Amino acid sequence: MKEIRLGRTRLSVSAVGFGGIPIQRLSEADAVDVVRHCLDLGVTFVDTANGYTTSEERIGRAIAGRRESVILATKTAARDGKGVLEHLALSLERLGVKTIDLYQFHCVSSPEDYESIVAAGGPLDVVREAQASRHVRHIGLTSHSMETALKAVESGRFATIMFPFNFIANEAAEELIPLALERDVGFIAMKPLAGGALDNATLAFKYLRQFPQILPIAGIERAEEMEEIVAIMESPAELTPGERDEIQRLRAELGNRFCRRCGYCQPCPEGVSIQALMILDSVIKRMPAAHVFGDFAPLVDEAGACTECGECEEKCPYGLPIREMVKERVALFRSEMVRCGFG
Ligand code: SF4
Ligand code: SF4
Repeated sequence: MKEIRLGRTRLSVSAVGFGGIPIQRLSEADAVDVVRHCLDLGVTFVDTANGYTTSEERIGRAIAGRRESVILATKTAARDGKGVLEHLALSLERLGVKTIDLYQFHCVSSPEDYESIVAAGGPLDVVREAQASRHVRHIGLTSHSMETALKAVESGRFATIMFPFNFIANEAAEELIPLALERDVGFIAMKPLAGGALDNATLAFKYLRQFPQILPIAGIERAEEMEEIVAIMESPAELTPGERDEIQRLRAELGNRFCRRCGYCQPCPEGVSIQALMILDSVIKRMPAAHVFGDFAPLVDEAGACTECGECEEKCPYGLPIREMVKERVALFRSEMVRCGFG
């Protein structure tokens, strides 16, 4: 497969990467098969996270014996040095490797989180020490907040930035991607299919191919899905006028219904976890049922505290009808919970 250079890491990686969220839903054997099939297709960049339950362990099994051909990326959501060290040790053990190629601070989307990462003697310094002892090769950061992502790129402290990017949530094309390219920071596009909102892989990846220096990571759970994506990435065909019209139509239809997880709507005066509730539909599709219906049930119950004050909608930069969307997602959660035998 075509390869790209991942910014200042100078790593040469496949033009599309593997995202390790959806394999959590599969049986262990199927998950290992899917990862191996993707590697056979020429995918060399594999991304996972400490927080993705079984994902690291399954990827570790899949890459056993072929470590040299894989660029491994994982993440920690810990915000203190001790927690980061624990996560790093666990990732190395689960993945069965001595070195992680790209270690990322996961979902750093508030100024407070960013400051705790870069604080003297904090998480960043701890990972730099791990870099010196060769447990980590490069350090990156993932975010849903444009402000934080720009700050991280400008700081020069991170070799990569991971941010949502697809033809619905395409704000990164304006400033973040050009800045990352200028500073030689590798840009990794999460949510190329808008977290499951887009089911047309051809449109989604033909759009992304217009940005040949970025690395989209596709979270898939069937090998055929990656076959389709690889074929699109390898094809020279450009977007046709009809496809461009379809993109415009989908933008108009979905653009004001897609949560970017930026968190600007929070905090809610009643303590409602708006951001988590807004992505419930995607979580239900992509995460294991036991995890979804266990961990999210208390948040769904708390949604009942909403007084419909509308404060969150005033703060959302994308004008999302949050009250209506949260209600829809809570209803979906409850019906799926019953359907899956957890209710
Ligand atoms: S509308 Fe509901 S969720 Fe939004 S800020 Fe008000 S109480 Fe919180
Ligand atoms: S609802 Fe709006 S402000 Fe809140 S996380 Fe989603 S996109 Fe951001």
